[in-house]
Amino acid sequence: MTDVQRHELLLEDPHRTHELGRVIGAACLGGEHLCLRGDLGAGKTTLVRGLAEGLGVDPGSVSSPTFTILHEHRGEHGGLGLVHADLYRIGDADELEALGWEELSRDGAMVLAVEWPERVPEAVPAPAMIITLQHGPEPTARHLLLEISMSAPHLLVAAVGRSCRTCGGTVTPGSSCAPFCSDRCRLADLGNWFGGRYAISREIEEDDLMDPEIE
Ligand SMILES: [Zn+2]
Repeated sequence: MTDVQRHELLLEDPHRTHELGRVIGAACLGGEHLCLRGDLGAGKTTLVRGLAEGLGVDPGSVSSPTFTILHEHRGEHGGLGLVHADLYRIGDADELEALGWEELSRDGAMVLAVEWPERVPEAVPAPAMIITLQHGPEPTARHLLLEISMSAPHLLVAAVGRSCRTCGGTVTPGSSCAPFCSDRCRLADLGNWFGGRYAISREIEEDDLMDPEIE
């Protein structure tokens, strides 16, 4: 994957992981290939459920694939659908081909979310985004590495496009602090606002600069 932007996110709980999936899904145009990497329990299924919701597909229909290699969720009312693939148990590219992979992977009405893409790298030659999920510092937190192809600027904007109004840092999608990166930056902005509100709005006069008279 060449011409890639890398971004790291710390998501404090599974709601944030779901929300990130949702905003990415809502931004998809169709035909995107998204790769998901991470250990069992890292939150891949949570992210795919969010993705489904963003696409307008019932998130409840998304399960951890386990034994079924391909789950196909057709979109309703002409909306985009989702292909959820788990290549962990796939033998080789031929086996994947026999499941109708080529047709699905070229379907512009579908978005593909592929777990364990490294099992058959040639199946996903040009992913729009690779999301690597890892356990974070707290038990519920997840550390994410997003590798976003420059050919998918719409996903870049959706996932990390907003910058903090105070420090210019990245605003986590779905964060309660948005449009700030943190509570600290939100409070700093509030401080600036109060500072401005209480500033002297008339011209400074000579008396303002005089020391108070001492009796
Ligand atoms: Zn900030």
